[in-house]
Amino acid sequence: MPKKTIDQVDVNGKRVLMRVDFNVPIENGTITDDRRIRMTLPAIDSVVSRGGRLVLISHLGRPKGRGYEADASLAPVAARLRELRPKLNIGFPSQDCVDEQAAAAVRALKPGEVVLLENLRFHGGEKNGDTGFAGKLATLGDIYCNDAFGTAHRPDASMVALPKAMAGKPRVVGPLLAKEIKYLSEALRGAEHPFVAVLGGSKVSDKLAAIGNLLAEVDAVLVGGAMAYTFLKALGHRVGSSLVEDNMLGKAKAIIEEAANRKTDLVLPVDHVCGRELARHTPIRVFEEHIDDGWMGLDIGPSTIGRFGSYIGRARTVVWNGPVGAFEILPFDIGTRQVATMIAARTDSGALTICGGGDTAAAVELAGVADRFSHVSTGGGASLELLEGRSFESLAQLDEA
Ligand code: AMP
Repeated sequence: MPKKTIDQVDVNGKRVLMRVDFNVPIENGTITDDRRIRMTLPAIDSVVSRGGRLVLISHLGRPKGRGYEADASLAPVAARLRELRPKLNIGFPSQDCVDEQAAAAVRALKPGEVVLLENLRFHGGEKNGDTGFAGKLATLGDIYCNDAFGTAHRPDASMVALPKAMAGKPRVVGPLLAKEIKYLSEALRGAEHPFVAVLGGSKVSDKLAAIGNLLAEVDAVLVGGAMAYTFLKALGHRVGSSLVEDNMLGKAKAIIEEAANRKTDLVLPVDHVCGRELARHTPIRVFEEHIDDGWMGLDIGPSTIGRFGSYIGRARTVVWNGPVGAFEILPFDIGTRQVATMIAARTDSGALTICGGGDTAAAVELAGVADRFSHVSTGGGASLELLEGRSFESLAQLDEA
């Protein structure tokens, strides 16, 4: 059942307490990537354009939870918001999100005005899911809205205890969160076949639960990246000095068997672009079945790209999580770029194409095809948990549409 969205409630004159994800990278006081702020603008515009009084709350970084820390202040975010929306009155009242100064600023809000409160994690209660802390926040709003997908899988106070404390009031999702759920959860449940999953990245252990869930849904799982080497070693291949999780060999074998039992194709690389080490300008050699000692697999090879392409090229639904090579280091970006481009081409032919995870989103941007995916998810951990088939406690108590 889809959740009610902020657009579906009357916010005129009401105080909307909106949990957003302003956890942006900041270096020496300067925001180096403001995407998360820009992505929240539709939610902000929706409230202020309809006369709502908007109270924004977020965390930033990992402060100790014992009060204000200048390094983790949301002040640069307030400044950036004012640049992005120069006509809005955006207050940033206090160094503490629940002190009297913050509460007074919220009381003084006029329709169409905004305040951003300081980093929730300056209070230890945020990470601990503390109900006392959530109760203080709850007094600041008539309506609760969650638009923080990157944190949606966490049991933090502002995600779970806060909407609980606001029971009886409207509790809804913002447009960003609504879109993530629509694609990563609802769309995949009724996905058209052939349905292909592409998984990569560094560790099998991180993706184990997702593979387990996906094996039951998809027709093929294409495995690339360093995690492929744990599977290949489990099958008796020599993998040189490629990254392997030796403690996962048993689990990898079990997944291979489960895929065979389910008649789901588990497609592993058949050739590997290898280097001597994970570094630029390392000597390069392509190996096929086995990799010699002293070489590490850093990207899928041309035959593998072709094989993956034959699956992707027929798919009606594709989900992708994790780069298939060490794409940050040239030339080991080629496989990942090719995968991105092949999936984007399927979108053009009417397939549903979804990618998730911070690295994968970055790779898709790098390949210049982000706008040719049906959906590029913004949350790493959160998107992986949805692929694992898990549901979020933070969403459970929000109103149904
Ligand atoms: P993850 O966070 O698990 O999705 O892993 C992403 C990281 O895996 C990226 O930084 C990639 O550079 C890295 N990666 C992918 N393939 C390989 C590989 N074959 N060897 C080493 N690192 C890899």
